[in-house]
Amino acid sequence: MIVMKFGGTSVEDSKAITRVASIVASRSQQQPAVVVSAMGGVTDVLIAMARGAAAGDLSGSLKSLQAVRERHFKACEELRVAPQVCAQLQPLFDSLEMVLRGIAALGELSPRTMDNVMSYGEICSSALVTAAFNVLGLPAELVDARECLITDSAFTRAAPNFEATNQRTQSKLVPLISKGRVPVMGGFIASNADGITTTLGRGGSDYSASIFGAALSADSIEIWTDVQGVMTTDPRICPAAQKIDELGFAEASELAYFGAKVLHPATLIPAVRKNIPVYVLDSRHPEGKGTCIRGRAPRSQTTFRAIAAKKNVTIINMKTTRKLMAFSFLKALFEAFERHSLSADLVSTSEASISIALDSAGVIPPLVEELRQLGDIEVEPAKAIVCLVGEDVKRIIGVAASVFDTISAAGINIHMISQGASEINISFVVEESDMPKAVQHLHARFFEQPQAAPASKANAGRG
Ligand code: ASP
Ligand code: MG
Repeated sequence: MIVMKFGGTSVEDSKAITRVASIVASRSQQQPAVVVSAMGGVTDVLIAMARGAAAGDLSGSLKSLQAVRERHFKACEELRVAPQVCAQLQPLFDSLEMVLRGIAALGELSPRTMDNVMSYGEICSSALVTAAFNVLGLPAELVDARECLITDSAFTRAAPNFEATNQRTQSKLVPLISKGRVPVMGGFIASNADGITTTLGRGGSDYSASIFGAALSADSIEIWTDVQGVMTTDPRICPAAQKIDELGFAEASELAYFGAKVLHPATLIPAVRKNIPVYVLDSRHPEGKGTCIRGRAPRSQTTFRAIAAKKNVTIINMKTTRKLMAFSFLKALFEAFERHSLSADLVSTSEASISIALDSAGVIPPLVEELRQLGDIEVEPAKAIVCLVGEDVKRIIGVAASVFDTISAAGINIHMISQGASEINISFVVEESDMPKAVQHLHARFFEQPQAAPASKANAGRG
């Protein structure tokens, strides 16, 4: 058994869906279960619709809904899906319209309602893809992912209940798969114990695929997307970026967490638990080998495996007037983070101060207000984290020196440094505007030059 997940661009229109059908057909011996995202861009539009309706622009929202509806019907038509299938989509869009009218009437949009609206993207795409598969000769069967994936009630960022999910997934999918059917499910969507729709957070379809893969003890989990695989860095920042053939779970987790867009950060957790390899593949070039992420990957030819970068980071600097870094102070500090549901990306401490880098997307001001009771606070927005990942970090002397040499030669100022607790990354914080330059120079230094011993004379300062 394998789980194959297709992202938004892989199911964006009839042509893409046709390509997906042939990719799935090529794996039919391996008993695939398929997970799909919403058609490319649809989730963004659904969010905008819900917000627009809440802000009083119902007519604008209904116009966008009409466009989404037409996009699905156009794909149905081009795929020559039976009219009955279109007739099944119609009531879905009608009920979404009712939800939008309700939001507009109340002028209120709770996270629970947002999940309800967002779920239509995957509900509709999975219905469409199932119908298309059947037309194209694949024995597909639509399974409502919300009946398999059970979560808590943290709407818009729900956490799975693995026990309930594993049991439901097995009992729903195994009989279908053993009959030779291909189950098709929406990613990202789930339900809580009361059957209310939840979602796993943006980009969560990867995570769904991995959760289902682990529940089925799949032989592999394939994440089909629109890039060749995991890259040595973001090719938009650095065109010389290369595809990575294989990397380890720990390396890939760090990369996903620190901004490599290709995988949702939680994706690997279920796969690691069951030691299931995860492949990242390109649905436009299915013949490519992609990237294999597994427990034990062969050693990298380069000092680092990859460089990730994350923009939109804020640093909170705190000086305590209390008795230095007493544990009670650190405890109070992190309890405040917990109360505000914020997590720290990087932390560095000295005798009497602590700096914490965190995602600016979180609601930071109330946290800062609370922290002022503990000491003097300074907030620095518009920063970026650059993170170099590789197993060799812990083995080779002088790696950090050559990283910071390169950065200083590029004339870039560093605000915070952390050699990852995981011992496989070196991370630091720079001005957001300096980030592309930092990444380009590091990539040139560590990936585009013949790899001599780290920090040897020949390499120093060449950036
Ligand atoms: N459709 C959802 C999103 O755009 C989930 C996903 O595609 O992974 O965030
Ligand atoms: Mg994605």
